[in-house]
This record gives sequence, structure tokens and C-alpha cells, in this order.
Amino acid sequence: MTLHPRKPLPSKSPSMQVKLSDNEDYTCEECGNLLFRKTYTMKRVSPLLSPTQEEIMMPVELFSCAGCGKVPEVFLQRSGLEVKEEKLNKEVQDEG
Ligand SMILES: [Zn+2]
Repeated sequence: MTLHPRKPLPSKSPSMQVKLSDNEDYTCEECGNLLFRKTYTMKRVSPLLSPTQEEIMMPVELFSCAGCGKVPEVFLQRSGLEVKEEKLNKEVQDEG
């Protein structure tokens, strides 16, 4: 693999001129929070599938609600994970 010479970035295309304030905020279905934290789930890659014939731990980036910790199902779907939502959010319970 070779490094490509640095190309100037294309000037803003009209389709990318999205005004953030014109768009709907995504809020947590559970608590209505607007903020999300970056979090990871780990996938174990079997030695049979691994290029090094050793088990690999592969992090998959996700976002969880900064308020209640819930990972919205839509984020799970977009990450291509088939993890059950209940499983991910199992530990997130109100403890008073
Ligand atoms: Zn929440």
C-alpha cells in the first residue's frame, strides 16, 4: 500500500449543506436525554476465522445514552450487531 498524494478537499457540495438547526434531535426513548456517550461492545473472533489463528477481541463502537445508559436499538441496527437490546442494557437499572 502506498500513500496517496494529498488532494485538496472538494469544495462543499450543495447536498452537504445541512443546517443542523433544521434537523430533528435524536433523544433517548427511555429518558428523553439529548446526549450520548461513546461506548464499545466487544466481539470475540474465533481462532478459526482469525487471520492469525488466535482469538481476537474486536471492539465495536456504539453510543449509549448519557442519562440512563440505554443503547438505542437504532444504533445497534446501524452497527450491524445482532445483540439483543435487553442484553446490552441488562446492567442499567435504577438503583434508587
Ligand atoms: Zn436515556
